[in-house]
Amino acid sequence: MTTIDYRELFIDGAWQRPATSDLIEVRSPTSEATIGSVPAASTADIDRAVGAARRAFDDPKGWATWHPKQRAEVLERFATELENRAGETARRVTIQNGMPIWLAEQFEGGFPPILLRYFATMMLDAPEIDERAGMLGGTALVTRQPIGVVAAVVPWNVPQAISFLKLAPALAAGCTVVIKPAEETVLDAFLMAEASAAAGLPAGVLNVVPGGREIGAYLVEHPAIDKVSFTGSTAAGRTIAETCGRLLRPVTLELGGKSAAILLDDVDLDASMESLFAVTLLNNGQICWLNTRVLAPQSRYGEVVDAITALASSLKVGDPLEPTTQIGPLVSARQRERVEGYIAKGKSEGARLTTGGKRPAGTDTGWFVEPTVFADLDNNATIAREEIFGPVLTVIPFSDENDALRIANDSEYGLGGSVWSADVSRAAAVAARVKSGTVGVNHYTNDPVAPFGGIKSSGMGRELGPEGLHAFQHLHTVYLPPAG
Ligand code: NAD
Repeated sequence: MTTIDYRELFIDGAWQRPATSDLIEVRSPTSEATIGSVPAASTADIDRAVGAARRAFDDPKGWATWHPKQRAEVLERFATELENRAGETARRVTIQNGMPIWLAEQFEGGFPPILLRYFATMMLDAPEIDERAGMLGGTALVTRQPIGVVAAVVPWNVPQAISFLKLAPALAAGCTVVIKPAEETVLDAFLMAEASAAAGLPAGVLNVVPGGREIGAYLVEHPAIDKVSFTGSTAAGRTIAETCGRLLRPVTLELGGKSAAILLDDVDLDASMESLFAVTLLNNGQICWLNTRVLAPQSRYGEVVDAITALASSLKVGDPLEPTTQIGPLVSARQRERVEGYIAKGKSEGARLTTGGKRPAGTDTGWFVEPTVFADLDNNATIAREEIFGPVLTVIPFSDENDALRIANDSEYGLGGSVWSADVSRAAAVAARVKSGTVGVNHYTNDPVAPFGGIKSSGMGRELGPEGLHAFQHLHTVYLPPAG
């Protein structure tokens, strides 16, 4: 098989030789073979990338000063260039992280151009100046200005969509960006760099520097960065928040989760199974907002356990490039070890394994774990409290609605969640009491129009919606004197 190899980094609008010969090797989670390599950015490369982004931002005639209409034209071309590469983007994500190809086509190939157009249009529709008659006689002219040079640090699980939750609003607002992809998913990031160059994004506006956590930490702390936007683990988020606190640097953090699906006693289980799959086990269980705690009414507990068990055991596990595969491998051997550690913990703490728990038979290579369900546990079990980031669900009983909410809200995290009922308004009333940034009723999707993000250990700040644009702007007020 031919491998995908790059030997240059995309910095300052050009492919440049890296400062060192260090490489990041990418391995297939399915075959475990090497599938590509890219240069590992060093601190010297970060300096160059941030320097380029700084110059591009500070240029008195540069990107930040353009009319939103001019930026929208370039972002439209960027969206088109991404569309031209959508199939290859999806394929690259799938061969790197094991995301089922049909999902990669939607999330990774499909979503980024939608986000670029959405935020570019939002800038066109936004009033340029908000003129406010003052209470003290004068007039206040309030504008939103681009916040500056953005450091974007992203994870491997949904690499392109998460990148564009940051890039689309940042670029539309007039910011310049240095993005650091995770080491596991670099090949899609280099394709994105190619698309940006083909679209004619001005030099320095977007720079791509792959590396590990040390390089990420160096970028976050770099003196020429004005704003940090991070998605990843809660542990890394805390470290980044400390750095940004010390530097008084604005930061947005999208972190981990342990969300709950509350199944009310009138839920239509048969009609809900397809959507329940999408909220519990999508992307092999590697999405931060997944509802990995399924809360079931005591009166229907056995029935729900059976239905979730049947769902998990019916899923097709295998090569994620196969269009009918529902569960692919986990991203890495390390991630599989982590997930298997939690499965062992679930058993040792006395939860009942109803399906899964092993590596699937017939997969000689690949970091696969069977979709796994645990029942007969309460919310204090380790597997009900900690984020596993794999295809492992817990089904926990509750006595009534208040008890369901008590359990759902008894979590260190607060990112997603869902409520399921034959009565949408009843479910919506329960959803309003779930303590998290977002909750779905009888389904869950991150609609671009509405803010997405978490509370508690799930992070701070929001992406998507106008709020997601405002995260890359600061407010500027001019006080005009009273007339006359
Ligand atoms: P991770 O935090 O280890 O890595 C994420 C990214 O941050 C990578 O690019 C990594 O190189 C970088 N990084 C790590 N430590 C850093 C530091 N101290 N300073 C700067 N950069 C650093 O997470 P992971 O294991 O790659 O991803 C899985 C985690 O991400 C899960 O916990 C998951 O819940 C979370 N996640 C959250 C969201 C969300 O939107 N809330 C989305 C996806 C993933």
